[in-house]
Amino acid sequence: MPPPEESSAEPEAAYFRVCSTCRKPIPFSSRYYRCSVSTCNRSRTALYFCSVPCWDSHVPEARHRDAWAEETRAPSREAWQAEQQAQQAAATEVTMEDKPRERKIVSSAASDDVPKEALIVVSKLKAYIRNRSGFNTSDAVMDLLSDHLRRLCDLAIDNASVDGRKTVLDRDFKPLVKLGP
Ligand SMILES: [Zn+2]
Ligand SMILES: [Zn+2]
Repeated sequence: MPPPEESSAEPEAAYFRVCSTCRKPIPFSSRYYRCSVSTCNRSRTALYFCSVPCWDSHVPEARHRDAWAEETRAPSREAWQAEQQAQQAAATEVTMEDKPRERKIVSSAASDDVPKEALIVVSKLKAYIRNRSGFNTSDAVMDLLSDHLRRLCDLAIDNASVDGRKTVLDRDFKPLVKLGP
């Protein structure tokens, strides 16, 4: 069975995805399951399950402490293809927009190739919140904060390149970070 990601090369996608556990196709407009844990839903490595038992079988390997299967409905083929086309169009637009400028702006299309890892020390952030408040912190917070840091970094890179520098300085971040004194 060919990997589902190659569907753009096919004349017409036959199904939405394959199950990450049993590789059975998940048809368009059908019910499927996603994992509630954010790391199982990153765009490049997202997991799709045809059934709750298939979701169950990834849990020991993924070592989730607190997770559940989320029932989801696959898009119709028409909706899915429209979305693919919209994404391709958006990616092309960004590339063309960036071409005439000499500034090295990290476009959203380019940053998609950078692995989306946590940019913060998860244990330290959780410990800080716990020490301040006794509260727990959801894993989804790490993704959100990491995305925020990536955005700040992209803007700081832009500031540095406008200055003709190849080193990002604290002053490239200062106008972006206006918290407190
Ligand atoms: Zn399955
Ligand atoms: Zn998972």
